[in-house]
Amino acid sequence: MRKSDIVSRVNYGSLSVDVQEHNRIIVVDAGFYAITGYTMQDVMEQQLCFQDLFVKEDYPIYAKELSAILAIQDTAYLEHRLQRKDGSITHVFCLGKQRKDENGRLIGEITLTDISHIKRLQAKYNETELELEALIQNLPGSVSIVEIKETAMHLLHATESYFRQFGYTREEYMATSNGGILGKLFYPQDLPILNQQIEAIVRGEKTICMQVRAVRKDQSLMWVDVRGQYLRMQNGNPLFYLATFDITKAKQRDEELRLQTERYQLIAEHTDELFYDYDVKHDILNLPQNYLPVRQGKIPAAITGYLKRSIPKKVVHPEDYPRFLRELMSCLTEEKKTSIEVRIRMPDMEDYEWYRLICVCSANEQGEIVRLFGRQSSVDNLKRLKKTVSEDKRIIERLSTTDPVTGLLNRVTFKERCGLYLEDADSDACYALVYSDFNDFSYVNDNFGYDSGNTMLYEFGSMISASPATVFGSRINSDYFLCLMKTGTRDELEQLVRERDALFIQRQRRKYPTSEIQVATGISFIDPRHFDVTVDIDNANLARRKAKTGKNDLCCVYYEALRAARAKEKNIAAELHGAIASHTVELFLQPKFMMDDLQIIGAEALVRWRNADGTYRMPSEFIEVLEKVGYIVDLDFFMYEEVLRCLRRWQEDGRPLVPISVNFSRLHNNYPDFVDRVIGLARRYQIDSRYIEIEVTESAFASDAEQMESNLRRLREAGFSIDIDDFGKGYSSLSLLMGSPIDVIKVDKAFVDSIELSEKHREYIKRMCMLIQATEKEIVFEGVENRNQADFLCACGFKKAQGWLLDKAVPVSVFEQKYVGSPAC
Ligand code: C2E
Ligand code: MG
Ligand code: MG
Repeated sequence: MRKSDIVSRVNYGSLSVDVQEHNRIIVVDAGFYAITGYTMQDVMEQQLCFQDLFVKEDYPIYAKELSAILAIQDTAYLEHRLQRKDGSITHVFCLGKQRKDENGRLIGEITLTDISHIKRLQAKYNETELELEALIQNLPGSVSIVEIKETAMHLLHATESYFRQFGYTREEYMATSNGGILGKLFYPQDLPILNQQIEAIVRGEKTICMQVRAVRKDQSLMWVDVRGQYLRMQNGNPLFYLATFDITKAKQRDEELRLQTERYQLIAEHTDELFYDYDVKHDILNLPQNYLPVRQGKIPAAITGYLKRSIPKKVVHPEDYPRFLRELMSCLTEEKKTSIEVRIRMPDMEDYEWYRLICVCSANEQGEIVRLFGRQSSVDNLKRLKKTVSEDKRIIERLSTTDPVTGLLNRVTFKERCGLYLEDADSDACYALVYSDFNDFSYVNDNFGYDSGNTMLYEFGSMISASPATVFGSRINSDYFLCLMKTGTRDELEQLVRERDALFIQRQRRKYPTSEIQVATGISFIDPRHFDVTVDIDNANLARRKAKTGKNDLCCVYYEALRAARAKEKNIAAELHGAIASHTVELFLQPKFMMDDLQIIGAEALVRWRNADGTYRMPSEFIEVLEKVGYIVDLDFFMYEEVLRCLRRWQEDGRPLVPISVNFSRLHNNYPDFVDRVIGLARRYQIDSRYIEIEVTESAFASDAEQMESNLRRLREAGFSIDIDDFGKGYSSLSLLMGSPIDVIKVDKAFVDSIELSEKHREYIKRMCMLIQATEKEIVFEGVENRNQADFLCACGFKKAQGWLLDKAVPVSVFEQKYVGSPAC
């Protein structure tokens, strides 16, 4: 018997029955007519029921078995006898399923397979091994026949392919499986499945269906799908024929898929990642069941009409939507992998968050894109982090390049930028570095507080920035400003700077009417081809310093001689100590006198620096420089010692002594041993402190008034007299006079000079001096040059003075001759 003989004779038919109406047959197919011999007319007219197809006594047994099966599963597969319309009997396998129709009625769907030919074969070969062999050779797959005993399945027959799939020959297989006990070949962990099947068969089950792992000869595992059908009883045991399929590859795929799904689920549960797939043809977006909004029922797992209902438009940020749609459309036309970052609003969320969507397209055999798979993950934190990092960077950049008070560049950055900028300078334009500082900044700081000072700095900075000619502006430090300016001509640039400064001063004076705030500005024009940032800034600074010395015009353009002057300054500092050692620095004395009778009452020590040619350099040429470099402290003590030596000599010579005032710079304040040194030296030279006057300027109180006052108090207690020099030059305050340890006020020459200007000036001086007198301080006028001045002051009752009316500062030897009585004999 050939396989084709069997296949050609197998008939199939199907029918549907209304379970609730005694299994009345409602739908049938052509196969049904062929198997049963009924016609369409029979079915319709006779109201045929399923049980009409049975031999009468068979149906109760069948129905019992069926209901037992349906109690545990919704599909039943039973073999039974079928009675045709003509009364003849045939054998069928009957596969039945139950379902509900749209009206909720229970429908049975049954497939009949005519197996009468197998039955006939069975009958024909009547249980001989040969006939079974023949049977299984003609069935598809790796077929075997097994006998089910109470505890095991025994292989009776099998095709060669059956043994081959396990890697054995028939003999090897039989030996390994201990005479064909199937359990011997199965993977031990899967034995319970086999045992369950055996138990079910013992209970009457007529089919076998299992997927288990078998162990190949080479000990590798393989997955087999085993399907079996009851054949008959033999020696009291049921025989089954089995079809065995190697499904290892499919299982591996399944397993990989399962692991992958598990991994994805794990990721999805522990991260905010979302895996999706989009069914292009049906326009359905599928989301995982365990995705939280799906689990919570906020969105369906399958979003139908995804594009048709413009779902993306509702969730993607409007600004990102066109980009998103473009990308999506391109995914639908070509097979590719893509990634896009867009803002998405999730259910329940008010705000959009950044997500990265990764998408892979998959095409069918015709190359049409049928599915998009992808992952969506939040990159919001990353974006936020990136943003804060870049914001922080910006802040750090700003802090490290700009001045926090004015917002202008700091010195280092200014220099860098100028260098870079001038590399591409415009050859027709005029460039300059403009260096400015305030003349009376400490006044605002001291009297109105730091905030006012800062506001002033800010306002000047703003004016620099606002100028259309400014390229870069910078606050170098304190009240020092530097900017790079660009104009068409030099005149234009100079005028802009003057206008800027004038406007600033005007505004500040309005705010602080009592201040004498000024801006001193130096301009250094640049040749961009030979720009040297250090030299050019230095030039602007020299011009600024020069400007500061001016009276009315506080703006100066750099010129070469300034550099020479600076070189001279440098020389002064370098030469001072040598000059002291070699006594080219000399003590001069200028007498102080009573203006009415021109009697000498004292002297002031003034320094003179002798040049090689015998001429002298005046203090104005070097004092400022020495103050700048701090050497003034050494000079003052040298002068003080010279005074002490002089007094000592007079003392030793028995000449009458006159008090001598010595100028002490405010820098001494920085030295804690200042007072001790002054007292100590006087002791060393054994000079009574009442012959020494300490002259300090008002400005000495500006930096550290407390320290200054305590120093002066100690000196005063030690018997020294304290003189305030140049009174009225700065911002004299009477409260300073009231509270401070001061004995003498030296009124600045400027007041004396103003005596001859007007009655008003005279009246002013008179009143001021009366006020000073009220504080019980002595008054000495500086720079009295003529009789008129002397007469006026004397008339007011102020007689002490120092000035050319009597004498200039003269060398000690001259002074001695003129004013100090001859040595006692
Ligand atoms: P000062 O302490 O106010 O000294 C008075 C200045 O006025 C002296 O200038 C003196 O020569 C000048 N003078 C006096 N009477 C007249 C006058 O009738 N007409 C004119 N036009 N000038 C007169 P000098 O000697 O050039 O000193 C200038 C300044 O240099 C001094 O002003 C003082 O502040 C400073 N100085 C001089 N020697 C020393 C010193 O040894 N140490 C310190 N720290 N400063 C000194
Ligand atoms: Mg003086
Ligand atoms: Mg003076």
